[in-house]
Amino acid sequence: MAKVGICFPSKDFLKLSEEEFVPYLKKFQQKGLYSFDMYTEFLLKQKLINTILQQMQKHNIKVSLHYQGDIPKDNEQAIMQVKEQLKAIRQILDSNGHCYEINIVFHVPDYQKNKYAHLNEMIVFFQTITTFAEDLKFNILIEILSNNHPAGNHLGNDFSEISIFLNNIDNENFGVCWDLGHTRLNHLENKELLLVPAKIIDRIKFVHVHNAYQKKDGKYIEHIPLTDLKLQSAELKFLIENNYKGIYSLEYGLDGLSENVNIYLDNIKKLNKFIEKNKEERK
Ligand SMILES: [Zn+2]
Repeated sequence: MAKVGICFPSKDFLKLSEEEFVPYLKKFQQKGLYSFDMYTEFLLKQKLINTILQQMQKHNIKVSLHYQGDIPKDNEQAIMQVKEQLKAIRQILDSNGHCYEINIVFHVPDYQKNKYAHLNEMIVFFQTITTFAEDLKFNILIEILSNNHPAGNHLGNDFSEISIFLNNIDNENFGVCWDLGHTRLNHLENKELLLVPAKIIDRIKFVHVHNAYQKKDGKYIEHIPLTDLKLQSAELKFLIENNYKGIYSLEYGLDGLSENVNIYLDNIKKLNKFIEKNKEERK
């Protein structure tokens, strides 16, 4: 089975008692869910986190993380803050039985004016926290963004920016999260950036999967459930050809778990089937 994850439906889970949420975990487990993707803030601040993590552990569902929270503009302060958070996160995970290697995906913080001074600072920032994170068994990943998501002066819309980070930080535990929806959106808009270049593909350690398309009114939307996988298949096949072994994490949030659980289950199954079939055909 492929490693397929989904975003943790936190709003819904928090409304449920432990007895009520366990049956959902069982459904996800039966459908082959590998992991829940969680925001770091949620993990650090949510009172029910111990119960949630323990139940996930019982149902053999792993954790992956997306960094959330303001990063101070001053680089030294930013490094201090993130180091403290990483230590606290590992402590919460370990104490609830999640003692394995975990990916944390970051959006590179945005810049106000001088892009290149910012880039240099960000290289120092990621180099330092990546080295620090080695002993904590965290992989530090930067995400490939899109021209539209998120809004702001981010680094990562462009593959050349991602390459500069990779050329400067060669730690084993530093890598890239390829968001297939973001590159697809850029491709729909600009007819470029569909598949990552050879230099980057070997450093992909995590993948976000979601649907993106152009609506009849011309607007583009993304972070919605998969349908027939047409807008993901070239990218997925490219990952399989390049021997990608990491998690394929479905990245969209649906409120109303009881009404929408079948969409998650269907997407987990669809993605698993597609990956397994294409792996098989390559043998
Ligand atoms: Zn993403």
